[in-house]
Amino acid sequence: MTPAANRLHYHAPPLYHSIHVAFTSITPVTSGSRSACASALASVRPGLPISREEAVHLIRCSDDDLPELLATARAAKERFKPGVITYSRKVFLPLTNLCRDYCGYCTFRRDPGDPGAHTMTSDEVLSVARAGEKLGCTEALFSLGDKPELLFPEMRETLRHLGYKSTLHYLEAMCELVLRETSLLPHPNPGLLSAEWIARLAAVSPSMGLMLETTNAALLAPGAAHDNAPDKLPAKRLRTIEDAGKQSVPFTTGLLIGIGESLQDRVDTLLAIRDLHDRYGHIQEVIVQNFRVKPAIPMANCPEPTRGQMLRTIAVSRLLLPNVNIQAPPNLSAPYYGDLVDAGINDWGGISPLTPDFINPEKPWPHLEQLRLRTEAKGFALRQRLPVYPEFLPALAAKPGLLSDKLRAAADDHGLARILRAA
Ligand code: SF4
Repeated sequence: MTPAANRLHYHAPPLYHSIHVAFTSITPVTSGSRSACASALASVRPGLPISREEAVHLIRCSDDDLPELLATARAAKERFKPGVITYSRKVFLPLTNLCRDYCGYCTFRRDPGDPGAHTMTSDEVLSVARAGEKLGCTEALFSLGDKPELLFPEMRETLRHLGYKSTLHYLEAMCELVLRETSLLPHPNPGLLSAEWIARLAAVSPSMGLMLETTNAALLAPGAAHDNAPDKLPAKRLRTIEDAGKQSVPFTTGLLIGIGESLQDRVDTLLAIRDLHDRYGHIQEVIVQNFRVKPAIPMANCPEPTRGQMLRTIAVSRLLLPNVNIQAPPNLSAPYYGDLVDAGINDWGGISPLTPDFINPEKPWPHLEQLRLRTEAKGFALRQRLPVYPEFLPALAAKPGLLSDKLRAAADDHGLARILRAA
């Protein structure tokens, strides 16, 4: 489908009917399931993951059962990483916002010629990275659209002008530039990757990421959230995550809730991630991200997940993956983001003192001092981590080369960021 045709398609009124239908079916039950939830909670064993059946009961728990679910999830977090919530101090580098996909919730992407369409130059990349370095940042998050040159001749021309064959070649060079010229560690997030490209990017970045979002392939149907977003086919994303696992690349993934999926879909998405982690041990972090409405997106009239849905999903994530880092972005749950700690997260994700959240620009990150105060009010210390989590550091640092040199210089004795401060 051409971009123009796509825009017309988005404005047809009944398109998101399927999403509204899905939402009516995922309201937590208010009666009749208390005994199922209670017995699922009673069967939780410290440090051991719950079953699919238990997770489905728990994610549907009533408001009456919610406090016990949260307490159980928070206790599981404390067994995994007691006393601390981490975050990564980062700069956000939107290398290009051109993208060949058209996700229904996205405000980041642009077509060539759209206002704000931009591909960063190497000077811009270095300038932002150096400014972040001065503010104590340790992560350079490269976030970009998926293979825009496959759709847009303008991007092919931009790349030719820059001297690169593809967006991924350019990304690799920019990761290498930041790694070589600054103390920041790159964390690329470029969409689907082949096994070869995972290996190439792993040579210039300690970790990388791809949101699985959901295993529900029906969301690629006409009018659904992933209509005209071929890179969001779950099987393709699972293959990238698996290829990273085969190469032992520390990998960040997660789910996006509120895009038309069912509660069972959320559990199945978490189980797919768990299955890959059981086989390869490489999932360093699972992000639970909530859809937020923005003006002018195709899903502008879709309901956002409620606070209760977010808390239930995080708690079930913690209990399905008791020994995996669980993260939720605070800016997408303001002003109540402190409550996410009660559901079992142990990380706030990347927070920038310099650059905006280009994916959700209307939702500013909290000031780091505010984040520290909210975290301490919940009884935890806030600590700065690197883009790669401490438990994955030793294997990377043992390899010779520039990347391990930079990692050893950036990490403290606990594998967290050496640049320690109050927040
Ligand atoms: S969410 Fe990512 S893949 Fe989807 S349109 Fe936006 S930039 Fe492209």
